[in-house]
Amino acid sequence: MISELLRGLSVTLRHVFRQPVTYPYPEKRKPVPKRFRGRHVLRRYENGLERCIGCSLCSAACPADAIYVEPAENTDAERYSPGERYAKVYEINMIRCIFCGFCEEACPVEAIVLTNHYEISAYDRDSMVYTKDMLIVPPPEPDRDTPQDTRGGDFMPEHAPVALQY
Ligand code: SF4
Ligand code: SF4
Repeated sequence: MISELLRGLSVTLRHVFRQPVTYPYPEKRKPVPKRFRGRHVLRRYENGLERCIGCSLCSAACPADAIYVEPAENTDAERYSPGERYAKVYEINMIRCIFCGFCEEACPVEAIVLTNHYEISAYDRDSMVYTKDMLIVPPPEPDRDTPQDTRGGDFMPEHAPVALQY
């Protein structure tokens, strides 16, 4: 009985002088592991064109049925992506998402990627459906936003890997 009491007290004494392991969030954020999967973004090429070509492969690969894509045709006068089509509507339901990363793996042009941002809470369900405007990264310069007028110009982006911009 006494030995058990002393053993319990020794555990308390051992922890009393240790540094606390809690984080004073949100002033200080706990670093996440390198392979952490959080909020998605839709990436662009260096010339500002959107990477997404509206192929819906991410939607097909998603086990939670969380992605909705509606494609539309590009024209040279109004070009969003280098392909024939672009995503006119792109939505991810963050309530459904299980952050498995299958969408990222399925994308043939590395358009959709998961970042290490994890502050995605909201007060109502509608706000948890992230639209294309919320997901797409800003253009490299304000005048490189989409749609672009590519009549008579070479719009094909470099295929070299582009550094992620977030
Ligand atoms: S991370 Fe997984 S669950 Fe979330 S949208 Fe992508 S494929 Fe679907
Ligand atoms: S994000 Fe990738 S896989 Fe999904 S529709 Fe766009 S190009 Fe296709």
